[in-house]
Amino acid sequence: MNELDSQLAAELLQQLGYEMVPSARKADVILFNTCSVRQHAEDKIYSALGRLKHLKQYHPQKIIGVLGCMAQKDGQEIFRRAPHVDLVVGPGRLRYLPELLERVAAGNGPLLAVSPWSESAERSSLLVAFEPFDPPRRPQSVPPPFQSYVRIMSGCNKACTYCVVPRVRGPEQCRPPEEILQEVRRLADAGCLEVTLLGQTVNSYQYRSGGQTVRLADLLAMLQPIEGIRRIRFVTNHPRHMTDQLLQAVRDLSKVCPYFHVPVQSGADAILRRMQRGYTPAYYREMLARIRQTVPEAAVTSDFIVGFCGETEEDFEQTVRLVEEARFKNAYIFKYSPRPGTKAAQAYPDDVPDAVKRRRNNELLQIQNRISLEENQKFIGRRVEVLVEGPSKTGRKSPESQSTLQLTGRTPCDRIVVFPGDRRLTGQFCWVRITGVTPTTLLGLLEEQPQIVPYSCKGISYGDSTLQV
Ligand code: SAH
Ligand code: SF4
Repeated sequence: MNELDSQLAAELLQQLGYEMVPSARKADVILFNTCSVRQHAEDKIYSALGRLKHLKQYHPQKIIGVLGCMAQKDGQEIFRRAPHVDLVVGPGRLRYLPELLERVAAGNGPLLAVSPWSESAERSSLLVAFEPFDPPRRPQSVPPPFQSYVRIMSGCNKACTYCVVPRVRGPEQCRPPEEILQEVRRLADAGCLEVTLLGQTVNSYQYRSGGQTVRLADLLAMLQPIEGIRRIRFVTNHPRHMTDQLLQAVRDLSKVCPYFHVPVQSGADAILRRMQRGYTPAYYREMLARIRQTVPEAAVTSDFIVGFCGETEEDFEQTVRLVEEARFKNAYIFKYSPRPGTKAAQAYPDDVPDAVKRRRNNELLQIQNRISLEENQKFIGRRVEVLVEGPSKTGRKSPESQSTLQLTGRTPCDRIVVFPGDRRLTGQFCWVRITGVTPTTLLGLLEEQPQIVPYSCKGISYGDSTLQV
């Protein structure tokens, strides 16, 4: 979601004549888009801001801005901790970024633009306060990448006790299907091949109009016929909204990828209750069985929080059991980080020592890595279709002139594939025969040498240069 916000903010500014430059030194405006889901993410931003202090001292005309969730959460506090910051803009105020920048440039800074928020605020006033940020995309001026994110809803209506998201992104607001369709058509016309629909609980999407309700399954069916789009993904799912209708849509719609990211967070009943996730481990297992039954080839991934308030060794063992059974493709495992203003931070002591959190994190990761490796081994000898994303991390270090190097791309089920090939295959589909695996990667060889048609849009070839936002 943050990556999309960064891209949209950059697109908006580029349409107004701003240009991307490769370093902070060369920039007139330096913007940090921030996350506040865990303390660590915030610490990184404060130290990055600290490193810019001298630059700002010598170039006071440079504008430094903090955008996103941490801006909303910390507000004025950012000016106090980093007095050289000129602008602080929350996610619900991003649409005003161009005019805010103008005002700061005219000498009217520092400026704070965040959504008014209070625990007791009415839902209706929060809906007004958190204005969705979905500026119209103009592919004619800023070409989209061949893989694009498309937000279908902002905010979140859940109340997981550990989570700061509803407080910093406001209540759930679904975009009208017509607007989404139009955006995807525009992206497709400009050469986009894969869209990933985004929402905090993407499968709770619903839009009511004229007595009809459009849900995620309906939206996927509406997107399927769009010419040019070859793959449709959607993240993140909430276990409670995994309807049979959605599973059948994934099974029946050829462009919709068989991949579900559906975080469980914990395998212990008591912990899920304290987290206010709204389901039990038994419910999650039943949901998983329905996914496997309807879409047997689907890859399922999950998130876990270890060391949540009051998590006992027995609770953790139950999480281990669930991981062993569920056979996720992979899992993201986080140590619990208390977030000021959340119910957990107010009501439950953060009583699991950091060393225990770390040990549980490593233990779970090791188990998951073994499972990921075993699941990946099933691919050895198989042929998979890969959308090539570019040189792999090691490949990127190779000299520009060398055209054959290690490329990376993804299968429909979101597995990363690394294979030797021509960097100009970036943005193309290829068939790769899998010859080896690691827990995170499938390794293989091109099945046949595809014709190279470099993906290029409005003069920018993604095979030759990497645009970074
Ligand atoms: N809306 C998504 C993702 C929310 S944030 C969802 O509901 O799944 C992404 C992940 O960060 C969460 O799934 C959770 O595992 C983790 N997370 C959120 N708050 C956290 C906290 N306070 N400490 C540690 N991990 C957290
Ligand atoms: Fe946070 Fe829960 Fe909403 Fe996900 S569903 S964003 S974890 S409150």
